[in-house]
Amino acid sequence: MSELVISGLRAGVSGQEILQGIDLTVRSGEVHAVMGPNGSGKSTLSHVVMGRPGYEVSAGSVSLDGTELLGLPAWKRAHAGLFLAMQYPTEVPGVSLFETLEEAALAAGRDPAEVVARARVEAGRIGFDERFLTRPLNVDLSGGERKRNEALQLGVLEPKIAILDEIDSGLDVDALRAVSRRVEAATTETGLGVLAITHYTRLLLELRPDVVHVLSRGRIVRTGGPELADELEKTGYAPYADGAAEPAKAGADPFADPFADPLA
Ligand code: ADP
Ligand code: MG
Repeated sequence: MSELVISGLRAGVSGQEILQGIDLTVRSGEVHAVMGPNGSGKSTLSHVVMGRPGYEVSAGSVSLDGTELLGLPAWKRAHAGLFLAMQYPTEVPGVSLFETLEEAALAAGRDPAEVVARARVEAGRIGFDERFLTRPLNVDLSGGERKRNEALQLGVLEPKIAILDEIDSGLDVDALRAVSRRVEAATTETGLGVLAITHYTRLLLELRPDVVHVLSRGRIVRTGGPELADELEKTGYAPYADGAAEPAKAGADPFADPFADPLA
């Protein structure tokens, strides 16, 4: 059983605070969705948790199975079992996906040959043409191909916890279904815990979340079950704009705040 615990996380860029105190726990087998309007801080959250350089963390902690991740370089966080499928996967000319996975396997003490064989199996599971395995990583790939590239790495590397930043963007209906099924299978096959960032509910029709969080202006302003995603489909994010919603407080009168979750 693994557990990613984000607590009191505050972070920003160039003195401007973007994340204003995030508390979130993802355990093995769970799917948490983080939804929110553009610019609410979703990708910043994914970057800060994975350890992308350039962000200033001013408070809080991020731990995986008790190991503090803040302060560790991204590769050590990956070794600890964390994975990020990036919203905008990086192009790496001259390095193929096969080579990337081989290096990752060696670094993790796995057999590179086994990993390469796994990559072929994984490509089949998500309907990804094997020729992409030998092409330079993400170079001249469509948005959807890049996302399947990320999903393939997830399947091969078997992390404990995966953050998926807009994995749905660019995927057509069939690819979205295949990738969602693959991720869902990992939650039962290897106990993967998932933090799925999206601003569309269509992903969540395929990858059913256990918990849905709404992020607005760097704060989680609401947490609920899958029905919250259905509600957002109807209301959009307007109710959460400009600090309209405040976090539900324990013991607060649910009728005092029309957006408070009575179950929170
Ligand atoms: P989301 O993924 O929810 O659309 P982001 O996390 O990408 O939002 O961005 C949140 C806010 O932080 C936006 O206002 C964005 O312009 C700002 N921001 C993100 N990264 C940087 C950066 N490197 N420098 C300056 N501002 C940034
Ligand atoms: Mg984003």
